[in-house]
Amino acid sequence: MQATEPTTHGFQAEVKQLLHLMVHSLYSNREIFLRELVSNASDANDKLRFESLANPQLLEGNAELGITVEIDPEKKLLSVTDNGIGMSREEIVEHLGTIAHSGTARFLAQLGDDQRRNAQLIGQFGVGFYSAFIVAREVEVVSRRAGLSPEQGVRWASDGQGEFTVEACTRADRGTSVRLTLKDDAAEYLDRFRIEGLIRKYSDHIAFPVRVRAGSRAEAGEPVNRAKALWQRPKSEIEDGDYLEFYRHIAHDPEEPLAWSHNRVEGKREFVSLLYLPSKAPFDLWNREAPRGLKLYVQRVFIKDSASEFLPLYLRFVRGVVDSADLSLNVSRELLQQDPNVAAIKSALIKRVLDMLERLAKDEPAKYAAFWKEFGSVFKEGLAEDPANRERIAELLRFSSTRSEGESEDRSLAAYVEGFAPGQEEIYYLHADSPTAARSSPHLEVFKDRNVEVLLLTDRLDEWLMQHLDEFRGKRFRDVARGELDLAKLGGEPRVETALDKDERDLLKRVKRVLRSRVDEVRFSRRLSESAACLAIGEQDIGHSLRELLKAAGHEAPEALPSLELNARHALVKRLNSLLAELDPLA
Ligand code: ADP
Ligand code: MG
Repeated sequence: MQATEPTTHGFQAEVKQLLHLMVHSLYSNREIFLRELVSNASDANDKLRFESLANPQLLEGNAELGITVEIDPEKKLLSVTDNGIGMSREEIVEHLGTIAHSGTARFLAQLGDDQRRNAQLIGQFGVGFYSAFIVAREVEVVSRRAGLSPEQGVRWASDGQGEFTVEACTRADRGTSVRLTLKDDAAEYLDRFRIEGLIRKYSDHIAFPVRVRAGSRAEAGEPVNRAKALWQRPKSEIEDGDYLEFYRHIAHDPEEPLAWSHNRVEGKREFVSLLYLPSKAPFDLWNREAPRGLKLYVQRVFIKDSASEFLPLYLRFVRGVVDSADLSLNVSRELLQQDPNVAAIKSALIKRVLDMLERLAKDEPAKYAAFWKEFGSVFKEGLAEDPANRERIAELLRFSSTRSEGESEDRSLAAYVEGFAPGQEEIYYLHADSPTAARSSPHLEVFKDRNVEVLLLTDRLDEWLMQHLDEFRGKRFRDVARGELDLAKLGGEPRVETALDKDERDLLKRVKRVLRSRVDEVRFSRRLSESAACLAIGEQDIGHSLRELLKAAGHEAPEALPSLELNARHALVKRLNSLLAELDPLA
């Protein structure tokens, strides 16, 4: 039997932290609590509709799903009621006492005390249910899960100070009421017009009717919102503000998206998609287990959040909705993976995203630069993951280069190729740990002399990715730190292959003898004009960053020795020969 006495529970430490942050940093924008509660009510109705597909009794004879906001100015009460899935006792303790998303909890644990940063970041994990405490002295939640008997209701209550109580109760209707006793300074939310305005502002896109009831006896009026799924409405009727509000609802992101793309496909396959490009990377972008993907609807019925089957990993930052008319309503994970409709939708969505990025790159370069800064290193993975779209992906890549200063000037491959020096036939690049390290590399000297641009690759994954990119518009790529560079066609003095004289041959021999097995070969360089010496790796050898990646993944990378190159014209090198000659007469 369940306890009838109220039991007291402590909030998880992270929830306390969240409550504290929220009450202090979101005060100026506190009206959003209503949007969050209506959004949860809508999710609950969605879940019921989905579960009732397999189990129609859950509807208990009432399939009309809606949301009611009730205000009672005398008692200073505001409540939001749904007739959705409801919560059992276990669920209410779990969902309204902890932060469900473990990545969020970990993220919160890492947060420092920097209030300003927190205020910006806080929206990233969705302020959610707990935002009720920004305006409420006391929050009471009464719920009954669909399918349980009326006596199996549950009442949750808290003042948001660290603890909550839970007790059993009777509730005739399935679903949930969240009841707020408003703080004295939050009386504005007892005004019917204010509340209706907020619902129109924030919740117009909610697919269930939201009604308002004011005073204890009055009937709820007509729905305040449009109550039609946004993506199903004709594009011409939808304003930017509607798209932005819908984005907030699905993405929990306080920042505006950079772009969106809304498409209806009809014919052999029918689906609607609404895809958004966020402007900021989520904190868990690099966490492989983090939920990602689209909200999936089938024939307008919500199926699940984070359907990752519809986007490849390299587009994992895209948010949005896909609503298919062809999938079966009782799709399971396994079925989704096998369904040929899914593969077809996925490849169509990839094209939509690439279209959207191309449009942004062409028409709004500043926004594209912002996209690249946040997501470029993820997007690049597409070179390896999506060979079918490699050319389009390559066009969208951006690099820092010897001709760019700062991220806003990052170069596209197209710009690089169009800026070829006379005689240039290949695309030159250099790997380094940072743009600063790259810019001071001796490997760039000969390119500077001849005014040839070199791309500077400084991402950890770049070396691995470049293996997947052989050419761009017919031009091959060349790593300037590899092999013996031949710049014969690049102007400057024509390089005449002269045989080495005896002194030169001796110098190479002597240096090699000192370094022995630490280098592969010692030779005179074609790369250097100022520096005395540099190392070059072999044409086919694995470079530094790929070696580190392999090691981190537990693989043994084959040994590879670099070659030492000397600048024959450098004073130091000229002197080196006579120094070594004294030490080692080479019998
Ligand atoms: P989110 O909506 O992002 O999951 P919230 O803080 O808004 O986070 O809500 C936390 C959880 O509490 C929800 O995931 C849901 O499981 C539960 N919940 C909140 N409101 C309701 C409701 N009206 N009906 C059923 N469950 C709810
Ligand atoms: Mg929520």
